[in-house]
Amino acid sequence: MSKVILVLSDALGYTVATQGMGYLGHLVENKLASLYKVIGELPSMSRPMYETIHTGLKTSQHGIISNLVIRQSTQPNLFQLTSQAGKTTAAAAYYWFSELYNHAPFDPIEDREVNNRSLSIQHGRFYTQDETPDIDLLATAGMLVRRYSPDYMLVHPMGMDYLGEKYGADFSQYRNHAIRQDEYLSGYISEWMSLGYNILVTGDHGMNDDGLHGGTTPNVREVPLYLMGASIDGLGDTQEIVSQLQIAPTICKLLGLPIPGTMPHPSIL
Ligand SMILES: [Zn+2]
Repeated sequence: MSKVILVLSDALGYTVATQGMGYLGHLVENKLASLYKVIGELPSMSRPMYETIHTGLKTSQHGIISNLVIRQSTQPNLFQLTSQAGKTTAAAAYYWFSELYNHAPFDPIEDREVNNRSLSIQHGRFYTQDETPDIDLLATAGMLVRRYSPDYMLVHPMGMDYLGEKYGADFSQYRNHAIRQDEYLSGYISEWMSLGYNILVTGDHGMNDDGLHGGTTPNVREVPLYLMGASIDGLGDTQEIVSQLQIAPTICKLLGLPIPGTMPHPSIL
């Protein structure tokens, strides 16, 4: 049975990732991973793209048209499909994921830590502060994997977005954080691969030099997609461009789930 971890690094643009993330670059260079360039959907905002990545739908189709739409998802999504198939789900993620797939609006007392198999995100650990250190978030993710062996797990560090919005993309704080995040991730990716997981690393959007995203330019729209793990043949840098709408059906395929009719775009695999 194939298990999947999605590392969704908030605001990890294509250029900063491919230039700064040396461990992932090593896996690509040695054909232990595949690298694609993803053209993100619009607007290049967080909450709409969280839902797009998890449903395979465009913003106008799923209705989460901006960060200001605070409600649960109404569409077939990866957490719901996995949970309803009797499999285990988990997330170490920003609280907007709790709002999309567990409960909205977020109740910091009831919703922040959950272990409940009737929820779409069964084992959830949610943070509310953008400056939450990636190193702590990744340790939480590592705990969830060891303790619950989830079939589908979301890991969602916010460090790139926090520093990008504070300083802008053309500053060392943003660029150097990709190097640090790659270093933090290397130990986890190595452990998770040894446990037989398939791992995807991507971004929801990139960042512009003014410290914003939301628009249509390549720096906010182009994100990387690294694929690696037991069920994936490492192809190195494929130089191929794929759509963000292909991520959800790709994960369904890896999990052995039927791909719903709402995900018409082809799996990348
Ligand atoms: Zn974001």
